Amino acid sequence: MQHVTMSQSAAYGTNWYAATMAARPERTRLTFDLDADVCVIGAGLAGLTAAREIAQAGWSVVVLEGNRVGWAASGRNTGFVLPGYGEDIGRMIERIGLDHARELWALADRGLDYVRKTIADTGMPGVEPVPGWLQVSKTDNGGELSARADLLRKLGVDVDLWPVSRVRESLPSRDYFNALHFPRAFHIHPLNYAFGLARAAEDAGARIFEDTPALALDPAGVRKRITTPSARLRASHVVLAGNIHLGSLMPQLASTLMPLSSYVMVTEPLGARLHETLRFYGAVSDTERADNHYRIVGGDRLMWAGRLTAWQANPRLFARGLIGDIKRTFPQLGDVAIAHLWSGTLGRSIHRMPQIGELNRGVWVASGFGGHGLNTTAMAGELVARGIVDGDQTWRLFAPYELVWAGGLLGRAAMQAFYWGSRPVAKIATGLARYREYARAEKKVKLAKRDAERERARELAQMAAQREAKEKEYELTDAAQNIAPGGAQEGTQDRAHAEVRQETQQDAQVIERMPVLPDGVNYSATPEAASIPGHDTVKAKIRQAKLMGKIRNRKKNPPSTTGQGGQGSRER
Ligand SMILES: Cc1cc2nc3c(=O)[nH]c(=O)nc-3n(C[C@H](O)[C@H](O)[C@H](O)COP(=O)(O)OP(=O)(O)OC[C@H]3O[C@@H](n4cnc5c(N)ncnc54)[C@H](O)[C@@H]3O)c2cc1C
Repeated sequence: MQHVTMSQSAAYGTNWYAATMAARPERTRLTFDLDADVCVIGAGLAGLTAAREIAQAGWSVVVLEGNRVGWAASGRNTGFVLPGYGEDIGRMIERIGLDHARELWALADRGLDYVRKTIADTGMPGVEPVPGWLQVSKTDNGGELSARADLLRKLGVDVDLWPVSRVRESLPSRDYFNALHFPRAFHIHPLNYAFGLARAAEDAGARIFEDTPALALDPAGVRKRITTPSARLRASHVVLAGNIHLGSLMPQLASTLMPLSSYVMVTEPLGARLHETLRFYGAVSDTERADNHYRIVGGDRLMWAGRLTAWQANPRLFARGLIGDIKRTFPQLGDVAIAHLWSGTLGRSIHRMPQIGELNRGVWVASGFGGHGLNTTAMAGELVARGIVDGDQTWRLFAPYELVWAGGLLGRAAMQAFYWGSRPVAKIATGLARYREYARAEKKVKLAKRDAERERARELAQMAAQREAKEKEYELTDAAQNIAPGGAQEGTQDRAHAEVRQETQQDAQVIERMPVLPDGVNYSATPEAASIPGHDTVKAKIRQAKLMGKIRNRKKNPPSTTGQGGQGSRER
C-alpha cells in the first residue's frame, strides 16, 4: 500500500478508517464551466458506482463532491456487505407480494456481487474482504428463525440456521441463542473501497471534482444547469446521490429522508484474548435495531457499533455505553480500551427501502439506503446507469416505495422515542430467554437425577430378588440333604457357601453406605431414609441386612451334613 500523508488522512477525521486508509490522489475543485452527458452529485458509494457504470458505457460523466470522496456515511460505516434491504422481508412480502419481493431481493444480491467483483477485478488496496455474516438472536426463538430461514430460501437467499451450541462455540456469550448465517455476505474497509471505486470510475473516464458543492440545480429543459461556487455545468442527466447532505439543493427530496446517527468504536489491540473469545471472523449483528454490530479489524482489535440518535451527538457520550455492551456480551474479554470513536449519519426513508429512479425527465435519484447501503448503493448505481444509458426500466420495480415525507422534526422525535423504547423491551426479552434456558437446564438435571435413582433402586431390588432366590435354592438343597442324609456332596456345599460369602461381602458394601439408625426406628419413615437417593429401596436393603444376619448366624452354625435338622435349616 502507498504512503498516506497526514493531511490526507486528517481530511477524513480521526477514525480507524482514516488511520488505515490507502493512498488517494488529490482532486481539485471545479473552477471552469463544463458540459457533460451526465452530472453526478455526491461521491459516496451510490454516486461513484453510477459514475463508473455510465463512464464505462462511453458517456461523459462529471462527479461533483462537496467535501471528499467517501467522506460521509460511505467511508464511516461498519463495512458489512449484506444481502437484502433494511426493510423486513415479511413486511415486504405483505406489501408487494412474494414474486415482486423475490425480484427485488435478486437485485440486492446483484449489488452484493457487484461489490465483490469490483474488489476482485480492480485489485483495489486495503479493502480486505472477510466472508460471512451472523445475525444472532438474543432470545430462544429457534422456531421463528427457522421459519425466517425457510422464507429467505424461497427468495433464493443462501442462509443456514445455526443452533445455539454452534453459535456459542463461535461467539461464547450467555446472551446468544440461535443465529442465521449468510455465507455470501462479507465485510470490508469501506473507505478504501470508496477510494478504489473512485479510481475505477476515473479509469473508465469519469471526472471527479472534490470540494465542489452543487449549490443550485435548474432541472428544466433538455440540458440541466448546475451551479457550483466557481463554475457552471450543463448536463443532459443529473444523478442526485447526495444522501442526507443534499439539503438546500432539493429540499423536498431531502425531507423524505430521516438523518440518523450511529456510533462506532475500535478498541486498542486485544491480543490473543480476542481470538480465544471470538472464533467467528465474519460480521456479527446481535439486534434487529442499530445496536451491537461488530467485527474483528486490524488483526486483534474489535470494531463495535451501536446506539442511534435522531441528531448528531458527541460520540464520547456513548463511549461508556458501547464498552458496557461489550462487557455484558463478552465479560471474558476483560478490560477493553477505546482507540478510535466516531459517528456517522445515514439517511433512512420511512419505508426503509431505497429511493431509486427518474424523478423528472433526466433527473435521477439514488439515495435513502439507510443502514443497509453497501450492497444497495452498488445496485442503485448500476440500475440508474442502465436507465440512463440503455433506457432500462428495471428501476421501476421500486415504484411501490415512492418518495414519502419523513415527518420532519416530529418524525425524528418519534423515531428516537421508538428506539429508546425498544431497547429495554429487547433487554427484557433477552433476560426472559436466559431464565427459560436456566429453568430448562435445571429440569433436565432433575430428570436425570430421578432416572439415576430409579435405575439404582431397580438394581437393588433385583439384587434382593436374586438373593431370595438363592436362599430358596439353598433351603431346598438343605431340605434335600435333610431328607436324604449323606446324599449331598461335600464339594457342592463348599461351592454354595463360597458363593454366599462373596455375595454377602457385596451386600455389606451396600449396607455400609447407609446411615446408622437407633434401634427401633422405622428406617423408611426417617428423614435419613428420605435423604438417601431412592429411599423406597431402603426396605430392600433392610431385607438384605436381615439376610446378612441370617447368613452370619448360619456361618456360626453351619448346616448339618447329617440331615439332623435344627441348626442346619435356615432361620426365617
Ligand atoms: C455508522 C454507520 C454504519 C453503517 N454501517 C453499514 C454497514 O455495515 N453496512 C451497510 O450496508 N450500510 C451501512 N451503513 C449505511 C451506508 O454507509 C450508507 O447507506 C451508504 O454509505 C450511503 O451512501 P450514499 O452514497 O448514498 O451517501 P453518502 O455516503 O452520504 O454520500 C453522499 C455524498 O454526497 C455529497 N453531497 C451531498 N450533497 C452535495 C451537493 N449539493 N454537492 C456536492 N456533493 C454533495 C456528500 O458530501 C457526500 O459525500 C452505515 C451507515 C453509518 C452512518
